[in-house]
Amino acid sequence: MSPDRNRLHLAIQKSGRLSEQSRDLLKGAGLKLSQSGKNHLAARAENFPLDLMLVRDDDIPTFVADGVCELGIVGQNVLEEYALGQPERRIEELLRLGFGRCSLRIAGPESADEFALDRLQGQRIATSYPRLLGRFLEQRGIDAEVVTMRGAVELAPRLGIAGYICDLVSTGATLEANGLTALADVFDSEAVLIRTRRPIDGAHAEKADALLTRIEGVIATAESKYIVLNAPEERLAEISAILPGAEAPTVVPLIGRPGHVAVQAVCQESVFWETLERLKAAGASAILVMPIEKMML
Ligand code: ATP
Ligand code: MG
Repeated sequence: MSPDRNRLHLAIQKSGRLSEQSRDLLKGAGLKLSQSGKNHLAARAENFPLDLMLVRDDDIPTFVADGVCELGIVGQNVLEEYALGQPERRIEELLRLGFGRCSLRIAGPESADEFALDRLQGQRIATSYPRLLGRFLEQRGIDAEVVTMRGAVELAPRLGIAGYICDLVSTGATLEANGLTALADVFDSEAVLIRTRRPIDGAHAEKADALLTRIEGVIATAESKYIVLNAPEERLAEISAILPGAEAPTVVPLIGRPGHVAVQAVCQESVFWETLERLKAAGASAILVMPIEKMML
C-alpha cells in the first residue's frame, strides 16, 4: 500500500467507535467512497482526489505527524496522549467534529462521596493513557504509580493489579458492570480533524483546504437552522437579539401589513422551543424553523 502522491490522504479508524461517523461525515461532505485494496486498508473517494487509510486509531497521529497522511480523524484523547510523548507538535487540530464524545476518568471500587483525590497517594492506577494520567497527577501533586495496560483496564482492580483505573467512559455502564464508580475527570474528548504540520505542497494544500471547508459546512449545518418569521418593525432589535447565533438577518417588508416585516436568518446554534416562545413573546408570529441541507461558510 504505497500512497499515491497525486492524491490527498486521510487516516480514519478502520473499525471501532469512530469509523462509522467518520465515514458519514465524509459522505455528508459529498464524497463517494469505495473500498479499494484486497485487505481493505484503504478506500478511495471517487469524486474527489482523496484516499482514505483505514488504520487503528492509535496509529493515526503517527501517520499524520509523519505526513504519510495529510489529514486524519481521531479522538482528542489519542491525539493528546501521543503529543505528550513528542518533543515537538507536528500535528495541528483543525476542527472539533461533535461525535465520539467521552471522558477519561479515574474510577474505583468506592462511592464518589467517600472519595477525595488525596486517596490516590501511593496507590496503583491502571490505564491505557499513562501520559494524560501522569500529567493530571503531577499537576495535582499526587504521587501514584501508573500501570500501563493495553486493554481490559476495567478488570485491573478485580485482578489485584491496581486499586484504581483511569479509562474512557461515555455512559458508565462498563464501569458499573465491573463494580466501579467514576471518581474524577481527567480529560474530556471528542473526535477531531487533524492536519500534518509538515508543509503540504501547493495543489494538495488547495485540496485539503477545499475538503476542510466542506467539512466545516457539514458540522455547521448539523446544528444550524433557517428561521423565517414575521415581526413588528419596532421590535426588530429585540427579536434579532433572541435569534441564536444569527448574524445580520434579512428583513423584508410585508405587502399590505405596514409596520410589519418578514425576518429571515441562519441560526448557527440550536433552536429550542424555549427560543420560539421568547420570539413569540417579543411579538414575532408565523415562525418557521427549517433544516439546512448544505452550507458553505
Ligand atoms: P482500534 O482498534 O482502532 O485501536 P480502539 O479499541 O482503540 O480501536 P475504540 O474503542 O473503537 O478504540 O474507540 C475509539 C475512540 O472512540 C476512542 O479513542 C475515543 O476517542 C472514542 N470513544 C467514544 N466513546 C468511547 C467510550 N465509551 N469508550 C471508549 N472510547 C470511546
Ligand atoms: Mg486503539
